[in-house]
Formats: sequence, C-alpha cells, structure tokens
Amino acid sequence: MINIKKNDILTVVIEDMSDDGSGIGKLYDEALSSDTSGDEPGRRRGFTLFIKDTVIGDVCEVKVIKLKKHYGYGRLMRIIKESDHRIKARCPVARQCGGCRLQHMDYKAQLNFKENRVRQLLARVGGAHEYRMLPIVGMEEPWNYRNKAQYPVGCDREGNIISGFYAGRTHDVIQTDVCYIQRKVSDEVKAAVINWMSECSIAPYDEKSDKGLVRHILVRSGYHTGEVMVCIVINSRTFPNKDELVEALITIPGMTSIFYSPNLEKTNVILGDKAVRIWGKKFINDKIGDITYNISPLSFYQVNPVQTERLYEAALRAADPGPEDVIWDLYCGIGTISLFLAKCAGQVYGVEIVPQAIKDAEENARINGIENVKFYAGKAEEILPEKHRKENVSADIIVVDPPRKGCDESLLDCIISIRPKKVVYVSCNPATLARDVKILSEGGYKLVQAQCFDMFPHTTGIETCCLLII
Ligand code: SAH
Repeated sequence: MINIKKNDILTVVIEDMSDDGSGIGKLYDEALSSDTSGDEPGRRRGFTLFIKDTVIGDVCEVKVIKLKKHYGYGRLMRIIKESDHRIKARCPVARQCGGCRLQHMDYKAQLNFKENRVRQLLARVGGAHEYRMLPIVGMEEPWNYRNKAQYPVGCDREGNIISGFYAGRTHDVIQTDVCYIQRKVSDEVKAAVINWMSECSIAPYDEKSDKGLVRHILVRSGYHTGEVMVCIVINSRTFPNKDELVEALITIPGMTSIFYSPNLEKTNVILGDKAVRIWGKKFINDKIGDITYNISPLSFYQVNPVQTERLYEAALRAADPGPEDVIWDLYCGIGTISLFLAKCAGQVYGVEIVPQAIKDAEENARINGIENVKFYAGKAEEILPEKHRKENVSADIIVVDPPRKGCDESLLDCIISIRPKKVVYVSCNPATLARDVKILSEGGYKLVQAQCFDMFPHTTGIETCCLLII
C-alpha cells in the first residue's frame, strides 16, 4: 500500500484533469509501478490526488489536505515546473468565477483533455474500444461565443449596484464589466440596465432579506440575425419605470424584444414561469443552416451557434436518413434537430417534456414550411413506448439528446425492443453517455463512431455525437 498521511508534502506530476477542472496527480507504489493491469491498457494503477489550479504537465509541490480510501485532495504549494500547456488566463476573474476552469490551459490542450476524457469514459464505463473517433471539432476563435447571458444583480459593501457572476459555489455577486465568452452586446445591455436601475432608484433583489426588485438580467442574441432580446427577472408581478428602460435599451443595435419575468420564489431557478412583453417582438429569430427558429425567452436553445451548426450537421451525417426513413428525435427542445433532419427523411417525430417548447417546435415547422414532422409533449420514456404499443409506430433511426442525467433506462429498453437500424446519441455529459452506450451495447447495439464538439470553450463541458448500429 502507498503510505500517505494528511499534511504530507509531496512532489506530484499532473497527468490528467477531473470533470471540474482539478488537476489529477497519481502516486505510484513501487510494487505497482510495473503493474499494467490498471483501468486502461498500458496504464499503471496509482493513488489519485486531486489538486485545484493545476494543469496537465505541471510538476508541483502539494500538501495533502484530505484523504479518502482510494483518493485524496492536495493543495498546490508551489509549481516546480510549469506545464508547456500553461498560459495566462485572459480573464482576470477566471479563478473566482469558476465558469472558465480551463482558461489557464492553451486551447489545443483543452481540446485534447476533453477528447481523452470522452475516450476514457467510453472505454472504461461504456466498454467500447473498437470504434472510429473522428477528430474533435474546436472553434477557430474560441471567444465571445455564447448567445445567452444570465447576469445576477446585487450590491457591493458601499451599496453600489453591481452585476457580473456568482463567485464559485456561492451566491455572492462579483462585479465584472466584460465576460470574454459572452457576445459583446450582452455586456452592453448589462451596463445599460444597471444605469437604468441607478437613475430610477431601483434596488437589486437581496436573497437574504427577500427584498428589492431585480434578480437577473437575461440577454439573448441571434447569431445570424443580430437580433437582441432582454428579459429582466424581478421579484414582483408588476414592472416599474418601463418607459425609461425601453429608452435606455433601444439605442443598442439589434434591440428587438424587451421582457420581464416575475419570479417571487426563493429558488435557484433563474426565470419565472412566464415572460411578459414590454416592448418589441414576441421572440427573436436565428438560423441554423437554412432553417429559421423562433426563440422565446423561456425556451431552451443551444448557447454556441457556431458549434451547434457543426454538431447538427454531424448528427445528420451520422443518421444519414433515406427519403422513406422514419426518425424519432427524443428530447427535441424547440425541434432544432428534428427540423434539420426532416429535409432528408420520410417522417420525423419529436418528443419533449416542456409543452411551450413543443408549441415553439410546431411554429418553427410552420414558418419553415416543413410538413413531415409531428411533435408530442411528454416524457420520451412514456411517449415512445406508448406510440409503439398502441399505434405500432416504427423507427428506422432514433436520435436522443438528453439533459445531463442521460436517458431513462426504460427508454433505452424500449429503443432496444424497437430495434431501429441506427441510434444517434447526442450528449452533453460523457459520463451518462458512456453508461447508456453500455446498456445499448448489451441490447445488441455497437458503437461505431464518436466525435466531440467543443460547445463550451474554456469550461469543462463537452458535447459528443455517437452513432450506434445494430
Ligand atoms: N435537442 C434540443 C434540446 C436538447 S436539451 C436542442 O438541441 O436544442 C434536452 C431537452 O430535453 C430539454 O429541452 C429538456 O426540456 C428535455 N427533457 C428533459 N427530460 C425529458 C424527458 N424525460 N423526456 C423528454 N424531454 C425531456
């Protein structure tokens, strides 16, 4: 056994990084150092230490601060030798914010790290070793990519109104004028709203006392159209000083819609359950490929438009539908992937749990003149089995794009019993993707291809598109 105690000072080489961007150092016992029977072929087993603020390749001096049976946590004391991949973070508050946990690593190394993580999980958890891994798709310019910003609003110690982000794992608002991953217009809107609040003496909402008005500033923008939507989330059912707000915002180029959303709950959920229009259009438009989408304040829409287009094209290539094929697009949101596939398929069915998103999906089909799609509101794991049992609907191809928790096991069982010739799995969480690939492979499916898309540069998030066939 490796003999490590709390407060030991050790020299560690960072070999990998964890889900939350901590460096991983391995400590090898001499007796184990030639043991190649570890988790992966050719890799030695070792004791794992998680060390914040380090990157792959750093050699560092670490103090052991917490020990569990099979792993521990270390505090970085000193970097003995900096990794070749270490760079200076562009954002001065990257460490405090905790959104961009990888900003101190060069972009190429970020991409390698993400792709390796997916590969490792698919092997270790998914049991998949023989498939084609297409090269990860990164961004040429991995900055200012987000089309949606949600800024919390608060007060500093002197009582000035501030807005920016929550300090990692807290609800303390930290002021920042610029966020390098947001579109520039979002910061412009934020500044104008703060100005309006000061001039009209409008107080930010304070969670502790449950007093004050403005909770969050939501900004969305259309990448191709340049249209801008603002939604102010407030702790009231009525909205004061509307005219002054409109006046403050309409000079911003692209301003198209202004909303407010009442949220009177003591909750972490940002938006309320409705959005009330103050000025402008009911929605903004954007395009993915040649399809136009209506985006309303409350519906889900992918945050990185450049990479979304590449992801959907890859999903379409993987599905490669014929003109007669019946496709089910499960977890379809506002029908983005469904409409993308419909142009090449016989019939597409979309299933989504949020009824408003289904309304948007139907409207999106209508404005694009797409008639071979039908949408159902409900749980994928309920609608698909029901339609299969009662109406005997078939599926040649099934596409799933679930939230982070992955697919319900009963849904995977249903897919296995329907036996579509292809399953295209789009995932924002490689851990649940790997778990579900394992279940599908036990049901006879084989993972033949995977490709990662960097939808969230500088963060630890990664999107993967997999093709499984029977
Ligand atoms: N494919 C869409 C949305 C993906 S996000 C796009 O690319 O834009 C995942 C979606 O799954 C969300 O819209 C969420 O509301 C929905 N969802 C979550 N659980 C669900 C379930 N059990 N059944 C159907 N949809 C669900």
